Amino acid sequence: RLFGGFKKTSERITENLATAVVATSATLDAQSLDEVEEALIASDLGPATAARIRERLANTKFERGVGEAEVRRVMADEIERVLAPVAEPLEITAFPRPHIILVVGVNGSGKTTTIAKLAHLLQEQDYSIMLAAGDTFRAAAIGQLKTWADRIGVPLISGNQGADAAGLVWDAVKAATEAGVDVLIVDTAGRLQNRRELMDELAKVRRVLGRINPEAPHDVVLVLDASNGQNALSQIEIFREVAGVTGLVMTKLDGSARGGVLVAAAEKFGLPIHAVGVGETIDDLRPFDPRELAEAISG
Ligand code: GDP
Repeated sequence: RLFGGFKKTSERITENLATAVVATSATLDAQSLDEVEEALIASDLGPATAARIRERLANTKFERGVGEAEVRRVMADEIERVLAPVAEPLEITAFPRPHIILVVGVNGSGKTTTIAKLAHLLQEQDYSIMLAAGDTFRAAAIGQLKTWADRIGVPLISGNQGADAAGLVWDAVKAATEAGVDVLIVDTAGRLQNRRELMDELAKVRRVLGRINPEAPHDVVLVLDASNGQNALSQIEIFREVAGVTGLVMTKLDGSARGGVLVAAAEKFGLPIHAVGVGETIDDLRPFDPRELAEAISG
């Protein structure tokens, strides 16, 4: 199962619906509605969205003896209605090339892995790629990106640990332009502990990019870890402020039951959701399919 993490949520919803449907004729009783709402909140859809879905279920007239599948369908429809408008694949539009994608997010969110997966996905669409190891603070991040770059066969511009990130990004854009690559994907630091420093660094990287090309960066993608649940919302707020986030990727939806926060995020921020991570291998980045996620949550 793609979104294995939602199994617990949907099982809990199943249990509640099973009793609900037997007990009711035309509408679900209050207790079943409460239970469903709780299960939705437990998967981090957020109280507002959960309450709305409850309301929708409460106002739906079901035929007597209708199966739980019908109840699920109403739920999935409502969730999909929120998600559909924000499902937007990344588009490589910059002309002249390169299209520059800045990837931001807190350490451990899956940023490095997502960069590799994204590079691979774009390679499969016949774009030529270059990577830049702009997280110059962590030696491990540089090494890990190098390993991925070698594995998928894309050039990487990197410096020593502690090198100036903005300077490295300048070099990377120059190299990418000279090599005529389509897409330059730039890793960035994710030390949220030191917000002021992070803010200064990202601002400087943005300034340097803007000096080379006023349209750059063309995308600023925030990587979020599904297992962080509601924390994702404050991360979006912070990175929107410090980096001008233009779109989201959520990782680890294969393992976490808390990815419902994407629904809350869609409702609160309306930022495009470009893709989702569903595993640790290079092929595990998928275009975001709202119906699929809505059905995984509803069971
Ligand atoms: P970074 O510190 O943000 O660069 O995070 P990494 O890319 O190093 O990822 C941290 C851990 O999360 C690694 O063990 C990755 O393999 C793992 N990871 C990343 N994305 C996913 C995903 O979509 N699903 C799963 N199960 N693990 C992931």
